[in-house]
Amino acid sequence: MPAQLVCFERNCRARFPIAEVIYNCPRCGGLLEVAPDPPNASPQDLKTLWRSRRAGNQPLDQSGVWRYREMIPFLENHDSVVTLREGNTPVLDAPRAAAYAGLDRLAFKHQGFNPTGSFKDNGMTCGASQAIRLGMKRVACVSTGNTSASMAAYASAGGLEPVIFIPHGNIAYGKLAQALEYGARTFQVKANFDQILALVRTLAERLGIYLLNSINPFRIEGQKTIMVELMDQRDWRPPDWIVLPGGNLGNISAFGKALREMRDFHLIPNLPRLAVIQAEGSAPFYELFHSRDRSALRPVERPETLATAIRIGDPVSWPKALHEVDCSAGTVEKVSEQEIADAKAVIGRCGIGCEPASAATLAGLRKLVAAGTVSRGADVVAVLTGNLLKDPDYIYRYHTGQLEAPGGVAIQSSFGNSPVVTENDPDRIAAMLEDY
Ligand SMILES: *Cc1c(COP(=O)(O)O)cnc(C)c1O
Ligand SMILES: [Zn+2]
Repeated sequence: MPAQLVCFERNCRARFPIAEVIYNCPRCGGLLEVAPDPPNASPQDLKTLWRSRRAGNQPLDQSGVWRYREMIPFLENHDSVVTLREGNTPVLDAPRAAAYAGLDRLAFKHQGFNPTGSFKDNGMTCGASQAIRLGMKRVACVSTGNTSASMAAYASAGGLEPVIFIPHGNIAYGKLAQALEYGARTFQVKANFDQILALVRTLAERLGIYLLNSINPFRIEGQKTIMVELMDQRDWRPPDWIVLPGGNLGNISAFGKALREMRDFHLIPNLPRLAVIQAEGSAPFYELFHSRDRSALRPVERPETLATAIRIGDPVSWPKALHEVDCSAGTVEKVSEQEIADAKAVIGRCGIGCEPASAATLAGLRKLVAAGTVSRGADVVAVLTGNLLKDPDYIYRYHTGQLEAPGGVAIQSSFGNSPVVTENDPDRIAAMLEDY
């Protein structure tokens, strides 16, 4: 049976052809997903095949996404694939970060090692490939961040024209710079985020532009492979906990789906527990998860956090995310700007580094260990979602004591590391180095 799209709403579950250009269920408006399709090889054969591909020179096999193509079966052939050899990201032990969290051990899976520096590449290789398969010439998204950087790269690499819409003002220059360099047509629209979303939907329909926003079910399929690769790297032994930051909640949706599918296909024996961490000023999913009535998410009107990648007030994928956290017996935590900033500096001191949103994982873990939710001896993997160089401005301000949280509250530079201005005087410098 060819792959299909299926509505995520429990009491709809309508199915649609995989090559239909739809973003939500045409019947009920629900989220769509690619219907799971068990591979027709044994678990052991798949593991052996995937391991052998790692040594190959074919672009498809070198990609840390397409190597696991049996797990993302939405293409009939792979002629349309555009790959920049995404994935292949390391799992790094971080004893210093473990001690900070109160854990015996902690490993980071670092998605910042991707071609454009974030996990968006894992999804975008699939989204762009689907766009080409559909015969599209242009792709678009609304984003000032990692999504636009990634989409611009994959579209240009695949011969598509990337079009980016951003709210006027409110720009993160590091990421926007990438989008411009990768050749995206960029429109700064004088309107708010929701208005721009409506505008882009209108334009997409009128001009036949394919939308690569975060609900795109093919991006979710690609992000699933972060978990498949992680299990492969751990010889198919799931950890006790997997911790990740939550913004639009596409990534948690992808992780949960991947893990359930791997369990159902007998690739792993059990599900790890999933912990999603949000920033306090932008935590609608935290509120939903811990409230009595979980039938509707209450959007945050003005989401605020310096961790711009998770500054999302109305996350579209919340129904999927809630399902995945529940299925895994997981939890949702929130952390302050100060906690994010300090955790980020600790990850830096490990020689690893990440962007602010990623550091919410370590900050959240520290709280979960203190509360006894995660035990000291637990086997934990935290996913670092973006590269340190995405946000150098934040880093410089933190280390020099100039970082301010939204609202003007000063962030303490608990692990600050300010450069020292000095005379050209070896004696004085030697003295300073001695009592450092
Ligand atoms: C997109 C992004 C997130 C948030 O992921 P969601 O899927 O929107 O929850 C977190 N960190 C970084 C670096 C990102 O780019
Ligand atoms: Zn439906």
